[in-house]
Amino acid sequence: MSQSFIPISEPSIGSREEELVLAAVRSGWVSSIGEYIDRLESVFANFCSVKHAIAVSNGTTALHLALASLGIGPGDEVIVPDLTFVATANAVAYLGATPVLADVEPDTLCISPSSIAKNISTRTKAVIPVHLYGHPADMDEIQNIATTSGIKVVEDAAEAHGAEYKSRRVGGLSDCAIFSFYGNKIVTTGEGGVLTTNDDSIASKARHLRDHAMSKQRRYWHDELGFNYRMTNLQAALGVAQMERIKEFIEKRAEIMQWYRELLDLTESVRLNATKNWAKSVYWMVCLEVDWFDEIARDRFMQELRTRGIDTRPYFCTLSSMPMYAQVPLPIAARKSQIGLNLPCYFKLSRIQVERIAREVNSVLDEMRPQ
Ligand SMILES: *Cc1c(COP(=O)(O)O)cnc(C)c1O
Repeated sequence: MSQSFIPISEPSIGSREEELVLAAVRSGWVSSIGEYIDRLESVFANFCSVKHAIAVSNGTTALHLALASLGIGPGDEVIVPDLTFVATANAVAYLGATPVLADVEPDTLCISPSSIAKNISTRTKAVIPVHLYGHPADMDEIQNIATTSGIKVVEDAAEAHGAEYKSRRVGGLSDCAIFSFYGNKIVTTGEGGVLTTNDDSIASKARHLRDHAMSKQRRYWHDELGFNYRMTNLQAALGVAQMERIKEFIEKRAEIMQWYRELLDLTESVRLNATKNWAKSVYWMVCLEVDWFDEIARDRFMQELRTRGIDTRPYFCTLSSMPMYAQVPLPIAARKSQIGLNLPCYFKLSRIQVERIAREVNSVLDEMRPQ
């Protein structure tokens, strides 16, 4: 049995990926025009049951493009969860708008609808629910608040390809959505992202802005401030091959989650991700929370696992704790961010490796458990 180091995440790049990327290289279409861009966009739109998918350079630019396409700008407020990857808020700030932080739900870790409602002001233009760690946010509740208040909803589904809310896939549950294809996400293109929407005008605006807002009638005429947020055909080739395998990627993650549930010594105070009965999570990350941890104990636990050859990562730091977005802490997000960590979860992880991880986690927790 190999006692090698187990990383937190690792992509699965197989012979099909090699085949399509090589075909893209040999075709000469190495830049942002080519058949794989079109194929990836059409496969991904089908996968999410949406009309439009627009491939872009990464998930962060997808968010920036989505908000720009909705006309968000200086003076506007956009509500985002306090517990998320920093890109969710940065995309708002890039446009000169203000991210307003909402707290999260204690079980799903996703943005709390009641906290959204409390933060709506006359300046609020949109809310960005994040399907954190692969679990969908409570979209009906959020959509109700948004409709009542006349604001837009942008799903940040960067971590949730294939997740379902009440049997509907994320990506088509709101005005528009974004996904990331970074190397550790559910499927990867190396770097990459995609914007999905059923709205024809958002789609055409996003395509326009993605390509420097260049006029279709007059070349090198740009009618507004645009970006180069295009994906390359090489990346798209990788993405097309990955999308052929997405079902098995998701199934394997669910299986790994089951292994952890079975093998870890779980109690009320040592918990894994909860999944709501209306949700299908894709378990982008396995989440472990220990009630008797504080931040120091959590970090010591992670350090101890590392010396035993197992990589983990802490939950995201709250946005409200960072200099750009500093404000009073939001209680649930703050607490979760201190006591939570992620365990390895990726396609290549074997049952034997999960057994070894579980054994070490159980044993370190035993040593650390207060008497
Ligand atoms: C990964 C991620 C992003 C950004 O995606 P990149 O492709 O890395 O730019 C945005 N939001 C969330 C929640 C993410 O996890």
